[in-house]
Amino acid sequence: MISPDKNMLITDFAQELPARLKELQTLWQGHERGTQASLLRIKTIAHELSSLGAAHGYLALAEVATLVEDNVGSMLENFGHNDSARQHALYQHLNALGAMLARPQPDKPLVPGVPMASGADPLARRIAIVDSDADFAQFLAAEIAHFGFAVDHLASAQDFRAYLATHTPDLVVMDMLRPENQKGLQVVEQSYLAPGNSTPVIFISAHDSLESRLAAIRAGGHAFFRKPFKVTDLLDTVDHVLGLERRAPYRVLIVEDAPSLARLYASTLTGAGMITEVLTQPMALLSALDRFCPDLILMDIYMPEVNGIELAQVIQQHRSYLGVPVIFLSAERDPAKQLLALGQGGDNFLTKPVEPDNLIKAVTIRAKHYQSLRALMLKDSLTGLLNHARLLEQLDHEIDRATRRGSPLSVGLIDIDHFKMVNDRWGHVVGDNVIVSLARLLRERLRVVDIIGRYGGEEFLVVLPDTALADAVRVLDDLRTRFAALHQHARESVFQVSFSAGVVEFCPAQGVDRNIVEQADSALYSAKRAGRNCVFTTAGMAG
Ligand code: GH3
Ligand code: MG
Ligand code: MG
Ligand code: MG
Repeated sequence: MISPDKNMLITDFAQELPARLKELQTLWQGHERGTQASLLRIKTIAHELSSLGAAHGYLALAEVATLVEDNVGSMLENFGHNDSARQHALYQHLNALGAMLARPQPDKPLVPGVPMASGADPLARRIAIVDSDADFAQFLAAEIAHFGFAVDHLASAQDFRAYLATHTPDLVVMDMLRPENQKGLQVVEQSYLAPGNSTPVIFISAHDSLESRLAAIRAGGHAFFRKPFKVTDLLDTVDHVLGLERRAPYRVLIVEDAPSLARLYASTLTGAGMITEVLTQPMALLSALDRFCPDLILMDIYMPEVNGIELAQVIQQHRSYLGVPVIFLSAERDPAKQLLALGQGGDNFLTKPVEPDNLIKAVTIRAKHYQSLRALMLKDSLTGLLNHARLLEQLDHEIDRATRRGSPLSVGLIDIDHFKMVNDRWGHVVGDNVIVSLARLLRERLRVVDIIGRYGGEEFLVVLPDTALADAVRVLDDLRTRFAALHQHARESVFQVSFSAGVVEFCPAQGVDRNIVEQADSALYSAKRAGRNCVFTTAGMAG
C-alpha cells in the first residue's frame, strides 16, 4: 500500500514532468542546442529524473533517464570530438525519454529507442490552429504535421479558450476571421496575451488590409499571412519565431603558446557555447586548420618559434582558409603597432589581459559574420543546402571516415518525378517552390549528422553516416511518403508531386569504391523505370 504522503509525492512528480519535457525540448531543439551549457543542463535534468523516477516507481522512465545521463556525460567528455554514433544514441534515448515524459506511466516496461524519422516525435513543438474553416484548418494541420510538429485544431474562439485551460501550445496560428467580427483577436487579447504570457501568435486571414494587419500587430502578432499562402513560408516564420533555425556552434582555434592562458580562453568560449581547440605548437597550424575547420582563429602574437602576424599571412595564402577571421592577442598597447598587425592579416586586436565578456563579444561578431559569408559561398542559393562541389567534398570526407572506422555509410540519390511537367504546367516559380519544399523536408526529417545537398536541378543527395542499407531505405521511404503527401500550391490550385530514389551502402570491407554516386544513380534509374514514386537499391525495389 502506498501511504497518503507518498501518493502525494507521486502526484507531484508526475505534475512536474510536462515542465521537464518542455525544458528538454528547448535545450535539445532551441538555438542553444549542442552547447556545453545545454548539455550540462540536460545531464542535470536526466540525473534528477533517474533518481526521482526510481524513487516514485517510474522505473522505465528512470532507466531511460540514466541512459540519457550517461550519453550526455560521454558527449561532454568528448566535447568537440563527438562522432555521429554518440549523437545518434543520445537522440534516440532522448526521444524515448520524451515519449515517457509526455505520457508517464509507473512501471512501464522499457521500450527500445524510438526510431528516427517515424511518426510523431515526442519532443515535437505543439502548434494550435484556430480557424473556423474546417477544410482549410485540416489541410494546414496535415501539412504542418508532415514537418514534425504536433498540431491541434480548434474551430472556434470558445473551443480555443477551453483548450487553453488544459494545453500550452508553443505557438498559435489564428485566423482573424472576418474583420468586422474580430473574435479571434478578442480571444488573444483577453485570455492569451495576458501579461507574462509570451506564447507567439501568427495571424492568418483571407482579408488583407492595412486595418487587419495593424490589428494583428496591436494584438501582439508575430506575423501576418494572407490566405492562400505557402506553407513553407509559414514554417520558415514558425522556425524563426521558435528559434529552431539550425546554427552550428562557432568553432574557435586558439593559437597560444602559454597553456594556462590558452585554457582560460578556451573555457571562456566553451562556456558561451562555442567549440574550441587549443594549439600550443604553432608550427602544427596547417594540419589543425584542416582537421578542425575553425570559424575563427584567436592568435597570440609573441610565440617562440614564429610570430602570430607571420602565421596570419600564411593563412591568407591558402585559398581554402580565405576569409577565416583572425583576432590577435597581445600585451602590445602601442596603437601604431596594433594597426600594423591589423594590416597584415588580422581582423581585430585584443589587448591582454582580455576581459571574458570582450573576448566572447569580439569572437561572436566575427565568427557569425564568417558563418553567413561561408554559407553564401558553399550553399545552394535556392535551397540553402550544400551545393554540388561542397557536397562531393563532404561525401569524400565521410567515405574516409567510414573506411577508417569500419562503420557503415549509406547514400541516397533523389530525383523528383516528372518535374518537367510541373514546370510546363505551372511555371518555373512554382517548380522552384516544389524544390524548396523537398529541401525543407530533408532538413527537418534527417539527423544533424546527415549530409544533405542539392546534387543538380531537382536532384538531391543525402549521405547517412553510421547507417546500414536497410535503415537508409527505411528513412528514404519515409521521406518519399511524406513528400508525396505534401500539397503543392499553384495560384488557386493544389497538386502533389513524388520523388524516386536510389540507395546504396558503401562497404569499407569491399575496398575503396568512390563510384558510390554512380551506383546510387543506377538504382535511381531502375526506380524510374519501375514507374517512379519508389525507392530502389541496386538489388531492386525496396521499402
Ligand atoms: P523524371 O521523372 O524522369 O525525373 O522526369 P523529369 O521530368 O523530372 O525529368 P528530368 O529529371 O530529366 O528533368 C528535370 C527538369 O527539372 C529539367 C529542368 O528544366 C528542371 N529543373 C532543373 N533545375 C530546376 C530549377 O532549379 N527550378 C525549376 N523550376 N526547374 C528546374
Ligand atoms: Mg605568447
Ligand atoms: Mg533529374
Ligand atoms: Mg526528375
